[in-house]
Amino acid sequence: MSENGSAAVVVDDLSERELDLQGRARRFVDDALIPLEEEAERLHGRLPDSRIAEVKAAAVDAGLVGGLHKPEYGGQGWSSLEWFLVEEQLGRSTNAISWHIPNAYNVWDHASPELAERWLVPALRGELRDAYAVTEKGAGSDPSQIEATAVRSDGGFLINGEKWFVTSGDVASVLVVMANLIEDGEKHPTLFVVDKSLPGIETVADPAFTHSYPDGHPTITFTDVEVGSGDVIGGVGGGDEVQRSWFSEERLGIASRGVGSMWRLLDETVDWATGREQGGSRIFDYQGVSFPLADSAADATAGRLLAVDVAERIDAGADPKICHHKASMAKLFVSEAAWRCADRCVQVFGGRGYLRSNVAERFLRELRVDRIWEGTSEIQRLIIARGLERRGVETMLH
Ligand SMILES: Cc1cc2nc3c(=O)[nH]c(=O)nc-3n(C[C@H](O)[C@H](O)[C@H](O)COP(=O)(O)OP(=O)(O)OC[C@H]3O[C@@H](n4cnc5c(N)ncnc54)[C@H](O)[C@@H]3O)c2cc1C
Repeated sequence: MSENGSAAVVVDDLSERELDLQGRARRFVDDALIPLEEEAERLHGRLPDSRIAEVKAAAVDAGLVGGLHKPEYGGQGWSSLEWFLVEEQLGRSTNAISWHIPNAYNVWDHASPELAERWLVPALRGELRDAYAVTEKGAGSDPSQIEATAVRSDGGFLINGEKWFVTSGDVASVLVVMANLIEDGEKHPTLFVVDKSLPGIETVADPAFTHSYPDGHPTITFTDVEVGSGDVIGGVGGGDEVQRSWFSEERLGIASRGVGSMWRLLDETVDWATGREQGGSRIFDYQGVSFPLADSAADATAGRLLAVDVAERIDAGADPKICHHKASMAKLFVSEAAWRCADRCVQVFGGRGYLRSNVAERFLRELRVDRIWEGTSEIQRLIIARGLERRGVETMLH
């Protein structure tokens, strides 16, 4: 292991525990998720309760509930590499049906035991959902523009503001809300835990988006919403720091799932192209068809190495700043490569690639947002460029 945490990536050399987990996740995706994709698409992502119950039960049976969270709260306590192995499998399925696996945002790791008991434990039992609200109308890539505020009240804090694109905000019971505590004329970015049933919370828009996913991404307003003095994650003023550490994990998740998406896309498209004949030949024998797939195979393999490298560094306790840069590289590369791969596969399927029943068509729509959320591609490039200057080229490349 070198100073910056780089290690030989030997993902084929998995332990028995890791192989077992990978196998369980793979079977869960093949047996419980993929068969529901077309139904989910027809229903605009909203499966009936009976189907959701089946997915949850299958996830419990497969031991996939709560992933990275601590076993004492009902999680699995996975390493980052174990998380990669599972997310890679989940990425092989469309329509985000995997969102029905009981889980919660990794940020709860920084919550007090009281908050974890109240919200995280029931979330991991599949009894409630959470959502994470940072983005605002005027604050997307630039969180310094956040206008949501909190001030101290007799009971704790009063929150005011409007949050955009709150994924699962339509079904969540609890929201983690970024707001600036205003104290002594200073702004202290803080993550507040907000019970969604509190007075003063209103959903003011619930627009349609490109993908057909289980939950919406509504706009939610907060008017004098009062939370308790203990309803804070990461301490008063600690919001930015907690969020930074959490971003590396979320970006690794996007990269891991993107690698899985390319795997599925290539599986189905190679199968089709080697069976389809036009002009007296298999279409796979035309280089215009097989070369884009070869390029995607190279992309998928390179992306997998990048993602595994990040996971292994995090597990080895490497410098979090380096992990942050490396996670940005993995997210940037894989999210762009996976969407290119989906586009190429649509082309290889021809007219069939434009049908919503086709996996490549669904991935083409679904993978697009991976270049936008958790920091756009441009923001990842900014982070990487800053790393080149501050940490040096060699550290960034090795
Ligand atoms: C489906 C969906 C779900 C989401 N879920 C959540 C959620 O659950 N919680 C949450 O808080 N947010 C969520 N978001 C918000 C998402 O994180 C933001 O959309 C994203 O960070 C970009 O912010 P923005 O949309 O305001 O775009 P802007 O920041 O306005 O950016 C517009 C364009 O300008 C570029 N740009 C901006 N600044 C720079 C710069 N400095 N250098 C170069 N280029 C720049 C961007 O890359 C982009 O191309 C979600 C978004 C979507 C679409």
